[in-house]
Amino acid sequence: MTATDEIMSTDTPEQAAFRSEARAFLEANAQPKRATSPWALNFHTDDAGARREFEHGVAWQRNMFDHRFAGLTFPQALGGRAGEPWHESIFREEVSQFDVSSGFISSTIAMLGPTLMRHGTDEQKAHYVPRLLSGEYSFCQLFSEPGAGSDLAGLACRAVRDGDEFIVTGQKVWNSAAQFCNWGMLLVRTSPDLPKHKGITFLLVDMHSPGIEVRPLVQPTGASHFNEVFLTEVRIPVANVLGEIDKGWAPTRTVLSNESAFIGGGNAGSVHSKLVLLAEHFGRDDDPTIRQKLARSYTRERVLGFLGERIMTAVRKRETPPVDPSILKLFVAQNRVESGDLAMEIAGPAALATTDEKALWIQTELIGRFGISIGGGTNEVQRNNLAERALGLPKEMRNDHEIPWKDVPRS
Ligand SMILES: Cc1cc2nc3c(=O)[nH]c(=O)nc-3n(C[C@H](O)[C@H](O)[C@H](O)COP(=O)(O)OP(=O)(O)OC[C@H]3O[C@@H](n4cnc5c(N)ncnc54)[C@H](O)[C@@H]3O)c2cc1C
Repeated sequence: MTATDEIMSTDTPEQAAFRSEARAFLEANAQPKRATSPWALNFHTDDAGARREFEHGVAWQRNMFDHRFAGLTFPQALGGRAGEPWHESIFREEVSQFDVSSGFISSTIAMLGPTLMRHGTDEQKAHYVPRLLSGEYSFCQLFSEPGAGSDLAGLACRAVRDGDEFIVTGQKVWNSAAQFCNWGMLLVRTSPDLPKHKGITFLLVDMHSPGIEVRPLVQPTGASHFNEVFLTEVRIPVANVLGEIDKGWAPTRTVLSNESAFIGGGNAGSVHSKLVLLAEHFGRDDDPTIRQKLARSYTRERVLGFLGERIMTAVRKRETPPVDPSILKLFVAQNRVESGDLAMEIAGPAALATTDEKALWIQTELIGRFGISIGGGTNEVQRNNLAERALGLPKEMRNDHEIPWKDVPRS
């Protein structure tokens, strides 16, 4: 009995019917995963390849939306299926056997969808949710600035009200896929006289608005995952405020929490199974030390899966997660360090000197530890979150929380 058969045998009749429907859709619209190499890399050597993948992702999202497989737990009136969290779990199990993905936008759909449901007005939900779920609006995250990363609430991008619009001027940085997205979630400073967390507003912005310039940051691979985004007197309607003016920290927290849940939610697929293949290939699968470490990687992957499922079930029900999603993000980052080290130990130093597909996979796994431990909040910040929010430990010493943002010293 395979793992999938085992899962299927516990399906209720309703779940089994949904699984068949999902499988029929996938068989008609996607290629099975076994047709692709387990060592295929998920990065590009130029922006044209990255753009193609982005657009494939958007097209797949549209296909799911048209067949009612996008936003399974969102209301039907907004393009979803009003389903239960198990609909998402079953669809995820089925789709994991096929070579399809919504790519980058799956992350911002996971971040913004529940945030719109919690903080949006009825008009905003009716407008944005169907467009988000169908991929018509592809959102990037315009949060970080050169002087505001971990200390996000210190952000300086300025918005001044002019009638029914805000005029926004400032700079954002590290904005993933901003060169491809047509909408952005933008954090701006609306009231410099208020303490830093209290004068922030959350805006939804059309990336084609006059005054927005996206400058890709070229990486050593030749492609640009990130961008700098410059905003010069960009006019954004007040109607695009998500939540309340000056109270944008609340929707920001929702986005960040959903981001941690998404990153930790097992979207990258199983690394353990590749480590086993690697051990078999290099004849290390009977080495007791390697076997022990493989068992540990299996255990950690399973624990992560169960933890992720618990958190995502709450997110899909729009409930507060039972565990702080920071723990998931931290766990994933730690797993990446362990899997990179183990891959190297299995293959030996020669893996760094060759360029066959397994060696490139190992090198990518090894280097991948850095991005995952920074993006979506660094490991140190996640530990601070856990210490304060989950364990109730005393807060860090802070001297900038009560004074007006404009009086906080900045470099
Ligand atoms: C792969 C990836 C994707 C990203 N995508 C986006 C995106 O789409 N949109 C976006 O807006 N941003 C994005 N970012 C930016 C990311 O959110 C920031 O890099 C991150 O929040 C850290 O901020 P920083 O780079 O300014 O580092 P800093 O905040 O300057 O931190 C520098 C170091 O100091 C440590 N540190 C800082 N404060 C504390 C503290 N209080 N206690 C202990 N240690 C501390 C940090 O842990 C870190 O080691 C992305 C980053 C990566 C790597």
